[in-house]
Amino acid sequence: KLTHWDADQVVRFRQYVQMGLEQWRIALSSERIDQFTVYAEALLATNAHLNLTSITDPEGVAEKHFVDSMSPLLLDLPDTALSVIDVGTGAGFPGLPLALIRSQWRVVLLDSLQKRCRFLNETTERLGLTNVQVVHGRAEDTARVPQLREKHGLVFSRAVARLPVLLELCLPFLAVGGRFIALKGPDGPTEVDEAKTALRLLGGEIDDVKSITLPISGDRRTLIAVRKQKPISNAYPRKAGIPTRKPLV
Ligand code: SAM
Repeated sequence: KLTHWDADQVVRFRQYVQMGLEQWRIALSSERIDQFTVYAEALLATNAHLNLTSITDPEGVAEKHFVDSMSPLLLDLPDTALSVIDVGTGAGFPGLPLALIRSQWRVVLLDSLQKRCRFLNETTERLGLTNVQVVHGRAEDTARVPQLREKHGLVFSRAVARLPVLLELCLPFLAVGGRFIALKGPDGPTEVDEAKTALRLLGGEIDDVKSITLPISGDRRTLIAVRKQKPISNAYPRKAGIPTRKPLV
């Protein structure tokens, strides 16, 4: 697998990010593209000794990681000061690109793998980001920390679990009235059908299910937005591992 790009590949990465975001009418300064490039190069270099991503070509990284991470901006999200958390962020997707483009947001990047958290700390430091905090832990435990429980206006998550499980991991972080945005593949609507029980038990309501198409490959994605209607019972999330083993279905 690729561990670094030559100058030509770097140029292509920048062009694809720019092209993709232009199609979505998301403005991007050259300073921002520089930061994306530093991040992408760190991702590849670290990927040589730590498994962060299976996508390493410039077009793929640009579209499937960076542009895809911006897709929640196609929903009408506030660009005011707001606490935001990305649950199971891995190498930082979607939380880190979003933190770069929405500097008003205070963004928590949560992951249960220590090595990924170290990469995220090094990268946010290199990028000079002051609006990002990396938290190492499982969502089931971290959601019990008073400073994090029901304290976020927006929660994001991509590629962590199916929706019924994901709701139990994510809704506890959300303040009442806030929105959880799940970044899903083409079968997102099926997952919505599976999530009725979880939504009822956790006090969430589907706000929007939006089908989108990635601007370069045409691959299909689904954004699922869930509004939190009432405070969550102290019973949730259940102990680490239980949400996955016994989903609320
Ligand atoms: N969101 C990233 C993305 O889309 O590229 C990473 C996806 S990766 C497939 C799933 C990540 O979720 C892993 O980094 C894993 O450590 C993390 N994860 C899984 N279960 C978790 C949990 N219960 N609490 C916190 N992180 C979790």
